[in-house]
Amino acid sequence: MTTTEHATGTGTGAEDRYGLTAGQAAFLARADAFVKEAFHEHSRRMDDEEWFPEETYPTLGKGGFLGITVPEALGGQGLDVLSSGLVLQALGRWNHALALSYLCHESLCLNTLYRNANDEQRKRWLPGMCAGTTVGALALTEPGAGSDLLGSVETSSRREGDHFVINGTKKFIGNGPVADVILLFTRMEEGGGHAAFVVETTNPGFSVKRSISKMGFRGSPWGELEFTDCRVPADCLIGEEHKGHRVLMRGLDIERAVAAPIGLGIAERVLELCVARAKERRQFGKPIGKFELVQDKLAKMYVRVETMRTFVYRTLEEANRVGFDEGGKGGIHALAAACVLYVGEALKEVLDEAVQLWGARGYAWEYEINRLYRAVKVLEIGGGTSEIRKIIIANELMR
Ligand SMILES: Cc1cc2nc3c(=O)[nH]c(=O)nc-3n(C[C@H](O)[C@H](O)[C@H](O)COP(=O)(O)OP(=O)(O)OC[C@H]3O[C@@H](n4cnc5c(N)ncnc54)[C@H](O)[C@@H]3O)c2cc1C
Repeated sequence: MTTTEHATGTGTGAEDRYGLTAGQAAFLARADAFVKEAFHEHSRRMDDEEWFPEETYPTLGKGGFLGITVPEALGGQGLDVLSSGLVLQALGRWNHALALSYLCHESLCLNTLYRNANDEQRKRWLPGMCAGTTVGALALTEPGAGSDLLGSVETSSRREGDHFVINGTKKFIGNGPVADVILLFTRMEEGGGHAAFVVETTNPGFSVKRSISKMGFRGSPWGELEFTDCRVPADCLIGEEHKGHRVLMRGLDIERAVAAPIGLGIAERVLELCVARAKERRQFGKPIGKFELVQDKLAKMYVRVETMRTFVYRTLEEANRVGFDEGGKGGIHALAAACVLYVGEALKEVLDEAVQLWGARGYAWEYEINRLYRAVKVLEIGGGTSEIRKIIIANELMR
């Protein structure tokens, strides 16, 4: 079964598209073919060297895979959140490290800006981001601020006439070392609350302190950023002063909903690799897939992949309906947290079985299955840990 068949049917000849419309299934198939052709061959070098291919964003832009939720008048594709998730599913299959980078650019930065910026700001930054000539990031996490989100943020901003002056350090920022624009969250020195800014990385006072090496998703840029008396024009303020939390909370559920398909894409690829291996690898005179204990693994993986897919598409459908002023509470808040929580747990089980099925080759760094195994933990940590997701779900249930 090819992976494209996964996208459009069960591979058993049934006309099942897993609840996607014909148009959505066709879009997924197009994204799948495009990212496979453009990026799959880079995966191994990215993993070995923490190398990020410079042409990534212009290539995605030319292919029509940036600014998915942004109107065509601003250079975008005029599609929806679900379609963003489908691109991430395809990237998950063929180059999951780029999927993480894409999530930071496309969802955390671009889509959040689209939903919160004024018209002038949209015209200023979105066309370049949709073309892939401007790369985006979102910077919230700090050395002392992780799960507590804005509660512990120390990076500060103060107004000085028609500028804001920003000081502080942001850590573990996806795309940070390569970004041109950063959606930055600060604590306001006067008057309380928080503020969100777009900081252009050519701004004096901004620097990339260092890149950080990872156990998985290697090649996806990640780093520590410094702001030292960084003067940002007041027209770079996104939303209202003292109300930066609104910008953050409006985007969180959508970011979680579109992060989950990365795990689905990885799991689909893993199942495909395992089925192929079970047919090819012979021991005791026959393919290992003929042994019932190996079949047990394949069957369990299949169940996980199918349940992930159902949950992911349902959550994306719900995320499509989140208005610009909504998010951060209610049904979608619990559902998006639950979806990433489930996908993270299920993916870990899939990859544990997969490495076992691949034997020594699963343990060897150079094999794709090993690269995918080293990636799974991100879904349990990045963008909020599994523990925090459980707290969100329980709080919504108890409301
Ligand atoms: C690959 C990757 C990419 C990332 N990209 C970005 C990015 O682009 N931008 C950005 O701003 N950040 C980014 N992050 C940071 C990420 O959002 C944080 O790692 C995450 O919010 C958790 O914070 P922390 O790592 O500081 O863990 P901590 O908050 O220090 O948590 C440590 C442990 O304590 C637990 N814990 C904390 N509080 C509670 C509680 N109340 N109850 C129970 N358990 C609790 C946590 O669940 C965890 O197990 C990224 C992280 C990763 C791994």
